[in-house]
Amino acid sequence: MAKTAIVTGASRGIGRAIAKRLAADGFAVVINYAGNSKAAQEVVDEIRHADGEAVALQADIANPEQVAQLFDKTIATYGHVDVVVNNAGIMENSPIAKGDIASFDRVIATNLRGNFIVFSEAAKRIAEGGRIIGFSSSVLGLNLPSYGAYIASKAGVEGLVRVLANEMRGRKVTVNAVAPGPVATELFLTGKTPEQIDHLSKLNPLERLGQVEDIANVVSFLAGPDGAWINGQILRANGGMS
Ligand code: NDP
Repeated sequence: MAKTAIVTGASRGIGRAIAKRLAADGFAVVINYAGNSKAAQEVVDEIRHADGEAVALQADIANPEQVAQLFDKTIATYGHVDVVVNNAGIMENSPIAKGDIASFDRVIATNLRGNFIVFSEAAKRIAEGGRIIGFSSSVLGLNLPSYGAYIASKAGVEGLVRVLANEMRGRKVTVNAVAPGPVATELFLTGKTPEQIDHLSKLNPLERLGQVEDIANVVSFLAGPDGAWINGQILRANGGMS
């Protein structure tokens, strides 16, 4: 039977490309999404059209009951979970001095609490030999003004990755994160001027914006046989931005 991968936030952006890549690699893929059922179903249709296997399942990753159900339904459908990619995330910008607690709470709820909940469920349910993959961001290294909550949430994810890698001792499960630089998705492009996008795109010496496939390639490596010896690492996939 095919191996199974859950990809959170797979209705759009990077998650969508990861889901399609893992399906092409031979995984049965669970397309998780928060609210955009139409986009999630489109991904399922595209994968099935290419002779792959996929199903769409809604769950807010910050809700422990919904995440438990996501894993229950995956196991009921495919029998086992072999790869968990916690890609879902949000970004809001607000200077720390503004003290926007509501925005801070929203970002932490999805990016850090949500990651903790998905990792916790993955640690309980993943099959021996499995792969758990989280999402940080290379913006951590830039310390850009107004990114406080987002950077704090992703720094937390990096901590969870390293600890969980040690907690999985004896199960042959690896735990890593990918930390992309700027990638052309709604999350990055929304609210930025063309000048800001151009500036951020050229911070790396390859002088281009990351594409969703650049990141899906890295996840495919971590989830596949060639990634077996990578564990407890944060892969900064950013074209050399520093
Ligand atoms: P997008 O905004 O394009 O897509 C976000 C996805 O996450 C959607 O599928 C959305 O579902 C889902 N989602 C959001 N909140 C939740 C939730 N609470 N529960 C379940 N699903 C949720 O984001 P990107 O593809 O750009 O980002 C993917 C990851 O990569 C994020 O973790 C982000 O922080 C990280 N990243 C992105 C970079 C970039 O430049 N784009 C750079 C560095 C890191 P729905 O469609 O239903 O709303």
